[in-house]
Amino acid sequence: MKALILALLATAFLSSCASRPTPQAESLPSVVKVQAATPQEGLDALTAGNRRFVQNEMRGQDYHQQIDKTKNGQKPYAVVLSCLDSRVPVEIVFDQGIGELFVARVAGNIENDDILGSMEFGTAAMGAKLIVVLGHTKCGAVKGACNNVKLGHLTGLLKKIEPAAAQAKKEIPNFNPESYEHVDHASELNVKLTVERIRKKSKIIRDLEAQGKVRLVGAMYDISSGKVEFLPDQTVNASK
Ligand SMILES: [Zn+2]
Repeated sequence: MKALILALLATAFLSSCASRPTPQAESLPSVVKVQAATPQEGLDALTAGNRRFVQNEMRGQDYHQQIDKTKNGQKPYAVVLSCLDSRVPVEIVFDQGIGELFVARVAGNIENDDILGSMEFGTAAMGAKLIVVLGHTKCGAVKGACNNVKLGHLTGLLKKIEPAAAQAKKEIPNFNPESYEHVDHASELNVKLTVERIRKKSKIIRDLEAQGKVRLVGAMYDISSGKVEFLPDQTVNASK
Protein backbone atom coordinates (compact mmCIF):
# COMPACT_ATOMS: atom_id res chain seq x y z
CA MET A 1 0.00 0.00 0.00
CA LYS A 2 2.80 2.39 0.96
CA ALA A 3 4.65 1.60 -2.27
CA LEU A 4 1.49 2.30 -4.25
CA ILE A 5 0.98 5.66 -2.55
CA LEU A 6 4.60 6.64 -3.20
CA ALA A 7 4.33 5.61 -6.85
CA LEU A 8 1.16 7.67 -7.22
CA LEU A 9 2.88 10.62 -5.57
CA ALA A 10 5.84 10.40 -7.91
CA THR A 11 3.58 10.09 -10.93
CA ALA A 12 1.46 13.04 -9.84
CA PHE A 13 4.55 15.17 -9.37
CA LEU A 14 5.99 14.20 -12.73
CA SER A 15 2.63 14.83 -14.39
CA SER A 16 2.60 18.34 -13.06
CA CYS A 17 5.86 18.97 -14.91
CA ALA A 18 4.81 17.69 -18.32
CA SER A 19 2.19 18.41 -20.92
CA ARG A 20 1.92 14.80 -22.14
CA PRO A 21 1.17 11.64 -20.15
CA THR A 22 4.24 11.08 -18.03
CA PRO A 23 6.16 7.97 -17.08
CA GLN A 24 6.67 6.43 -13.67
CA ALA A 25 9.83 7.45 -11.84
CA GLU A 26 11.45 4.16 -12.90
CA SER A 27 10.93 4.77 -16.62
CA LEU A 28 11.94 8.35 -17.18
CA PRO A 29 12.69 9.73 -20.63
CA SER A 30 16.16 8.75 -21.74
CA VAL A 31 17.18 12.41 -21.93
CA VAL A 32 17.08 12.58 -18.12
CA LYS A 33 20.57 11.61 -17.10
CA VAL A 34 20.80 9.84 -13.76
CA GLN A 35 23.94 11.20 -12.13
CA ALA A 36 24.31 8.60 -9.40
CA ALA A 37 23.00 5.07 -9.07
CA THR A 38 24.26 4.54 -5.52
CA PRO A 39 24.70 6.68 -2.39
CA GLN A 40 28.49 6.53 -2.80
CA GLU A 41 28.26 7.71 -6.41
CA GLY A 42 26.10 10.59 -5.19
CA LEU A 43 28.65 11.52 -2.56
CA ASP A 44 31.45 11.28 -5.14
CA ALA A 45 29.51 13.52 -7.56
CA LEU A 46 28.99 16.19 -4.90
CA THR A 47 32.61 15.96 -3.75
CA ALA A 48 33.87 16.32 -7.32
CA GLY A 49 31.48 19.21 -7.98
CA ASN A 50 32.64 21.10 -4.91
CA ARG A 51 36.26 20.46 -5.87
CA ARG A 52 35.59 22.03 -9.29
CA PHE A 53 33.93 24.98 -7.54
CA VAL A 54 36.85 25.51 -5.13
CA GLN A 55 39.36 25.29 -7.97
CA ASN A 56 37.23 27.64 -10.09
CA GLU A 57 37.00 24.99 -12.79
CA MET A 58 33.22 24.68 -13.00
CA ARG A 59 31.94 22.62 -15.88
CA GLY A 60 29.69 25.44 -17.13
CA GLN A 61 25.93 25.21 -17.08
CA ASP A 62 23.73 25.43 -20.16
CA TYR A 63 20.48 26.14 -18.32
CA HIS A 64 18.38 26.25 -21.49
CA GLN A 65 19.63 22.82 -22.52
CA GLN A 66 18.98 21.54 -19.00
CA ILE A 67 15.42 22.92 -19.07
CA ASP A 68 14.87 21.07 -22.33
CA LYS A 69 16.30 17.82 -20.96
CA THR A 70 14.22 17.88 -17.80
CA LYS A 71 10.92 19.21 -19.08
CA ASN A 72 9.32 15.75 -19.14
CA GLY A 73 10.68 14.45 -15.87
CA GLN A 74 13.35 14.71 -13.24
CA LYS A 75 15.65 12.29 -11.46
CA PRO A 76 17.71 14.23 -8.89
CA TYR A 77 20.22 12.04 -7.09
CA ALA A 78 20.47 13.91 -3.79
CA VAL A 79 18.42 15.92 -1.33
CA VAL A 80 20.34 18.77 0.30
CA LEU A 81 19.05 20.57 3.40
CA SER A 82 20.89 23.87 3.69
CA CYS A 83 20.70 27.20 5.50
CA LEU A 84 18.91 30.28 4.19
CA ASP A 85 22.27 32.12 4.13
CA SER A 86 22.82 33.88 0.79
CA ARG A 87 26.44 32.76 0.78
CA VAL A 88 25.55 29.06 0.47
CA PRO A 89 23.86 28.68 -2.94
CA VAL A 90 23.67 24.89 -3.02
CA GLU A 91 23.69 24.15 -6.76
CA ILE A 92 26.55 26.60 -7.29
CA VAL A 93 28.84 25.33 -4.51
CA PHE A 94 28.40 21.76 -5.79
CA ASP A 95 28.60 22.83 -9.46
CA GLN A 96 25.27 21.20 -10.26
CA GLY A 97 22.61 22.15 -12.76
CA ILE A 98 18.85 22.00 -13.16
CA GLY A 99 17.30 18.64 -12.28
CA GLU A 100 20.23 17.25 -10.28
CA LEU A 101 19.43 18.16 -6.66
CA PHE A 102 16.39 18.55 -4.46
CA VAL A 103 17.18 21.51 -2.22
CA ALA A 104 15.41 22.52 1.00
CA ARG A 105 16.57 25.66 2.73
CA VAL A 106 15.69 27.07 6.11
CA ALA A 107 17.67 29.27 8.51
CA GLY A 108 19.90 27.00 10.58
CA ASN A 109 19.28 23.97 8.33
CA ILE A 110 17.01 22.27 10.86
CA GLU A 111 14.44 19.63 10.04
CA ASN A 112 10.71 19.88 10.63
CA ASP A 113 7.76 17.73 9.57
CA ASP A 114 7.44 19.43 6.18
CA ILE A 115 11.14 19.04 5.42
CA LEU A 116 11.04 15.41 6.55
CA GLY A 117 8.10 14.91 4.18
CA SER A 118 10.09 16.56 1.39
CA MET A 119 13.05 14.28 2.10
CA GLU A 120 10.83 11.20 2.08
CA PHE A 121 9.34 12.35 -1.23
CA GLY A 122 12.80 12.98 -2.71
CA THR A 123 14.11 9.57 -1.70
CA ALA A 124 11.28 7.03 -1.32
CA ALA A 125 9.09 8.42 -4.09
CA MET A 126 11.65 9.92 -6.47
CA GLY A 127 14.70 7.74 -5.91
CA ALA A 128 17.35 10.18 -4.66
CA LYS A 129 20.24 8.20 -3.15
CA LEU A 130 21.68 10.71 -0.75
CA ILE A 131 20.50 13.18 1.89
CA VAL A 132 22.96 15.89 2.93
CA VAL A 133 22.47 18.23 5.87
CA LEU A 134 24.71 21.16 5.00
CA GLY A 135 25.66 23.62 7.74
CA HIS A 136 28.14 26.42 7.27
CA THR A 137 30.64 28.57 9.09
CA LYS A 138 29.66 32.01 10.44
CA CYS A 139 26.00 31.06 10.56
CA GLY A 140 23.84 33.92 11.80
CA ALA A 141 20.98 31.60 12.79
CA VAL A 142 23.21 29.44 14.99
CA LYS A 143 24.78 32.58 16.44
CA GLY A 144 21.28 33.83 17.20
CA ALA A 145 20.47 30.57 19.01
CA CYS A 146 23.72 30.86 21.01
CA ASN A 147 22.66 34.40 22.01
CA ASN A 148 19.07 33.39 22.88
CA VAL A 149 17.70 35.87 20.35
CA LYS A 150 13.95 36.38 20.44
CA LEU A 151 12.23 37.80 17.37
CA GLY A 152 8.75 36.94 16.18
CA HIS A 153 8.57 33.57 14.42
CA LEU A 154 12.36 33.32 14.49
CA THR A 155 12.14 32.54 18.22
CA GLY A 156 10.54 29.16 17.54
CA LEU A 157 13.00 28.34 14.78
CA LEU A 158 16.01 29.16 16.96
CA LYS A 159 14.57 26.94 19.68
CA LYS A 160 15.26 24.01 17.35
CA ILE A 161 18.95 24.98 17.20
CA GLU A 162 19.11 25.46 20.98
CA PRO A 163 20.18 21.83 21.76
CA ALA A 164 23.30 22.35 19.63
CA ALA A 165 24.01 25.69 21.29
CA ALA A 166 23.59 24.12 24.74
CA GLN A 167 25.89 21.24 23.84
CA ALA A 168 28.56 23.62 22.49
CA LYS A 169 28.37 25.66 25.71
CA LYS A 170 28.95 22.45 27.64
CA GLU A 171 31.90 21.39 25.49
CA ILE A 172 33.70 24.73 25.23
CA PRO A 173 34.84 26.33 28.49
CA ASN A 174 34.02 30.06 28.59
CA PHE A 175 31.87 29.75 25.49
CA ASN A 176 31.62 33.13 23.79
CA PRO A 177 28.58 33.54 21.50
CA GLU A 178 30.33 36.42 19.77
CA SER A 179 33.21 34.16 18.76
CA TYR A 180 32.58 32.52 15.41
CA GLU A 181 35.15 29.89 16.32
CA HIS A 182 32.81 28.84 19.13
CA VAL A 183 29.63 29.36 17.08
CA ASP A 184 31.08 27.24 14.26
CA HIS A 185 31.41 24.35 16.70
CA ALA A 186 27.73 24.77 17.58
CA SER A 187 26.92 24.78 13.84
CA GLU A 188 28.71 21.47 13.37
CA LEU A 189 26.88 20.00 16.36
CA ASN A 190 23.64 21.33 14.90
CA VAL A 191 24.31 19.44 11.65
CA LYS A 192 25.04 16.22 13.54
CA LEU A 193 21.99 16.58 15.77
CA THR A 194 19.81 17.33 12.74
CA VAL A 195 21.08 14.15 11.06
CA GLU A 196 20.26 12.20 14.22
CA ARG A 197 16.77 13.69 14.47
CA ILE A 198 16.02 12.90 10.80
CA ARG A 199 17.00 9.28 11.44
CA LYS A 200 14.99 9.11 14.63
CA LYS A 201 11.84 10.76 13.28
CA SER A 202 11.62 9.24 9.78
CA LYS A 203 11.11 5.50 9.67
CA ILE A 204 11.06 5.69 5.87
CA ILE A 205 14.54 7.25 5.70
CA ARG A 206 15.85 4.99 8.48
CA ASP A 207 14.67 1.91 6.60
CA LEU A 208 16.11 3.13 3.28
CA GLU A 209 19.44 3.67 5.03
CA ALA A 210 19.33 0.22 6.62
CA GLN A 211 18.70 -1.27 3.16
CA GLY A 212 21.68 0.64 1.75
CA LYS A 213 19.47 2.47 -0.73
CA VAL A 214 19.99 5.91 0.80
CA ARG A 215 22.77 7.50 2.81
CA LEU A 216 22.30 10.42 5.19
CA VAL A 217 25.37 12.58 5.79
CA GLY A 218 26.25 15.84 7.47
CA ALA A 219 28.57 18.43 5.96
CA MET A 220 29.96 21.87 6.69
CA TYR A 221 30.50 24.59 4.11
CA ASP A 222 33.31 27.07 4.76
CA ILE A 223 32.11 30.47 3.58
CA SER A 224 35.70 31.74 3.44
CA SER A 225 37.10 29.02 1.17
CA GLY A 226 34.03 27.60 -0.58
CA LYS A 227 35.01 24.12 0.56
CA VAL A 228 32.51 21.50 1.76
CA GLU A 229 33.72 19.02 4.35
CA PHE A 230 31.64 15.89 4.82
CA LEU A 231 31.44 14.93 8.48
CA PRO A 232 32.10 11.47 9.90
CA ASP A 233 28.92 9.80 11.13
CA GLN A 234 29.19 10.12 14.89
CA THR A 235 26.53 10.23 17.52
CA VAL A 236 26.50 13.40 19.60
CA ASN A 237 26.14 12.62 23.26
CA ALA A 238 23.88 15.56 23.80
CA SER A 239 22.01 15.87 27.03
CA LYS A 240 19.95 18.99 27.27
ZN1 LIG B 1 23.22 29.93 8.35
